[in-house]
Amino acid sequence: MIDVTNLSKRYGDKVAVDDLTFQVKPGVVTGFLGPNGAGKSTTMRMVLGLDTPTSGSVTVGGRRYADHPAPLREVGALLEAKAVHTGRTARDHLLAMAATHGIGRRRVDEVIDLVGLREVAGKRAGGFSLGMGQRLGIAAALLGDPKVVMLDEPVNGLDPDGIRWIRDLLKGLAAEGRTVFVSSHLMSEMAQTAEHLIVVGKGRLIADVSVAEFVARAAHDTVRVRSPQATRLRDLLVGPDVTVTGGEPGLLEVTGLTREQIGDRAATAGLTLHELSTQQTSLEEAFMTLTRDAVEYTAEPTAAGRTAR
Ligand code: ADP
Repeated sequence: MIDVTNLSKRYGDKVAVDDLTFQVKPGVVTGFLGPNGAGKSTTMRMVLGLDTPTSGSVTVGGRRYADHPAPLREVGALLEAKAVHTGRTARDHLLAMAATHGIGRRRVDEVIDLVGLREVAGKRAGGFSLGMGQRLGIAAALLGDPKVVMLDEPVNGLDPDGIRWIRDLLKGLAAEGRTVFVSSHLMSEMAQTAEHLIVVGKGRLIADVSVAEFVARAAHDTVRVRSPQATRLRDLLVGPDVTVTGGEPGLLEVTGLTREQIGDRAATAGLTLHELSTQQTSLEEAFMTLTRDAVEYTAEPTAAGRTAR
C-alpha cells in the first residue's frame, strides 16, 4: 500500500505536485496517468525519498521509505532505466545491488530469467538497447521480491512485444497480491494494463477511479447533426442534461440525446436535416478532455480520435 497525504512539491516558483492525496492498494495494477509535466515522476521520487516534500507526506507499507530497514524488499522501483553502471555486466550490476541486502546469487539468476535477459546477462549494460535496459531495470526492481512495485513510464520506447511483456508481468505481480503503481502519459496504454487510475494534471488530482468507471463516464456518445436551420434546432434541443456545441455554421454536436430523439424533434418542428450520425468518443479523447485545462502546452485542437459509426 502506498499512502499519499496532502503531498506538495515546489521547485522555486514552480508547483510540481499540488496537495495530492490518494492511496495505491495491493492486488491491482494502478495506473498513474497524466500529461507530460503533470508531476508523476516528482511524486514517485518522493515515494522513494529521493525528493523531499515541501509539505504533506507519503508512506509505503505504513512507513516512510527511508525508515524501512531493507527498502529493496519493500519497494522495487524503476524510475530511470539508464541509471546503471555502464561498464558492468547486467549480472554484476544485479549482484552488486543484491549484496547490499544480503540477497543471494540464486535470486539474481531468477530475476534475470524472469525478465528474459539470460542470453545477455554477461554483457556490459552500457551496450544495451532501451528495451534491454528497461528489462534490467525491472530485474533490479524485483530483486528483493518487493511487496510494492513502482515503475515510471516503463513502456516508453519499447516495441510491441516488450509492451505486451511488461503488461503481462505487471498484471501477474498484482495477481500475486502486490501493490503495482505504474505511470504513463497514454490513456490507451493504461486502459489495457491498469484496473485503477490516479489521474493528475499540473500536479493536482483530477480523478481517482476504476478504469471501468472512467470508460463508462467517458463513453458519452455525441450525435453530430447538420441542418440549414441549426440555430432553431439548437433551441429545440438544449436542456438540463443536454449539451449542444457547434464547431462550424450548420453543425451541432449533441450529447444527452439519442439520434432518434433528435430526428423526431426536428421532424415535429419541420426542420431539415442533412446529417444525423453518432460519434463515439475514444478513450484518448476522453482523457484529453479531462486533462485539457491541466496541460501546460496544448497543441491546436483537432478532430483526431473520433470515429463515425
Ligand atoms: P511528469 O513525470 O508527469 O512528466 P514531472 O514530475 O517530471 O512530471 O515534472 C512536473 C513539473 O515539475 C514539470 O513542470 C517539471 O518541469 C518540474 N520539475 C520536475 N523536476 C524539477 C526539478 N528538479 N527542478 C525544477 N523543476 C522540476
